[in-house]
Amino acid sequence: MRQSLIARLWAQAWSLVLAELTQQEIGWLVSPARHLNLLVARRTTMIVSRVRLIAGLFALLTPLWIVIDVFAFDRDVWLGLAAARLLATAAFLALLRLPRRMNDMFDAYKALATLLAIPTAFFIFAYLHMQGQHIRGIQEAFAVGYAFLPFVMLAGLSIFPLTLLECIVFASPMLAVQGATVVVGWSLFDWPTAAASFWLMALITGVAAMAGTSQLGFIIVLVREAVRDSLTGCFSRRSGEELLDLQFRTAARANAPFALAFIDLDHFKQINDDFGHDAGDQTLKQAAERIRAGARGSDILIRWGGEEFLLLLPSTDAQGAAIALQRLRQSGFGPRPDEAPLTASIGVAERSADNAADWQSLVAIADARMYEAKQSGRDRSVGPLANKIEEDLRDV
Ligand code: GH3
Ligand code: MG
Ligand code: MG
Repeated sequence: MRQSLIARLWAQAWSLVLAELTQQEIGWLVSPARHLNLLVARRTTMIVSRVRLIAGLFALLTPLWIVIDVFAFDRDVWLGLAAARLLATAAFLALLRLPRRMNDMFDAYKALATLLAIPTAFFIFAYLHMQGQHIRGIQEAFAVGYAFLPFVMLAGLSIFPLTLLECIVFASPMLAVQGATVVVGWSLFDWPTAAASFWLMALITGVAAMAGTSQLGFIIVLVREAVRDSLTGCFSRRSGEELLDLQFRTAARANAPFALAFIDLDHFKQINDDFGHDAGDQTLKQAAERIRAGARGSDILIRWGGEEFLLLLPSTDAQGAAIALQRLRQSGFGPRPDEAPLTASIGVAERSADNAADWQSLVAIADARMYEAKQSGRDRSVGPLANKIEEDLRDV
């Protein structure tokens, strides 16, 4: 039964890996080192919300079990256990107070480590506490029930979207404690059963790792599909806003320059009206390709609306942005269906030159300048620099 479950999960994990994921994404299943920011944000939120869910459940069940301890054990045994249960409940309640949204993976690690540390500490205490007591008859059955706690915790790891490396790191303290009880002879089982239970824990860790990584695989696919616009392959507006927020805050913290360009294609409605919507779609797709080809690798292109794009230019000051946009306009946005060159009106804004407090105001400034570009005749770029410099650049 256990074997077939492992085999099924293994097959499922690999069919998912082979069918859906790129080579780079398979690497993300192993280690979190190169995860994209958007994936980190989703995963952090998901892990923290599941930590809260389990902490809530345990905060409820842990004190309730005192009733059963009272019924099963002598006063000396249950008193100690009840005190430990109340402490553990307080710790679980503290975990419930975690903020709902977190961006830093280390916050998620801390939350998960705390969630695992509470029952581990309780487990060690219960072992030591019951060791010195006379446990007999039916009491032994309840005492052995305590020995199952680490199994439950390891199996619980499977509900978190963890990489292989993270699963191993989070499982190893529990495996080490179990191993130590076997070696030192604290185990409530005789030694062959204790050794076999260690082996079972290692197997459960393997299954949990497969469940965790296949969940992560699903998230990777979902994030990838949600972040890209299907027609142009640009970042969608929703994921674009997240990236914009992240990039803006990073630049503000380092006091680094950060420019963005609001690009609106000229007379696009006319293309649809004259040549049909499909031709319009193709023109749009090609314009996005041309913008991407003309931009740097670190630049980010977002489809902000129908025929409107935002180009984020990290570490680029106003002058650098003017040069980049000039180059982009020179290489063009591809031909219209009637072979005439497609043009765009562009508004540029830069964090420090425009003294923008947040990304929303930076976008608003760029939008207003794009409108200015439209008003003054289209096919041009308006930025924060004095007109003269932009005029000079026009002749570069
Ligand atoms: P302007 O130079 O003032 O920007 O003129 P415009 O026609 O580009 O401006 P307007 O905002 O009035 O029209 C935008 C048009 O873009 C309207 C809409 O039909 C078209 N459009 C938006 N999204 C898509 C799309 O996904 N595919 C196609 N084919 N057309 C789209
Ligand atoms: Mg428009
Ligand atoms: Mg337009």
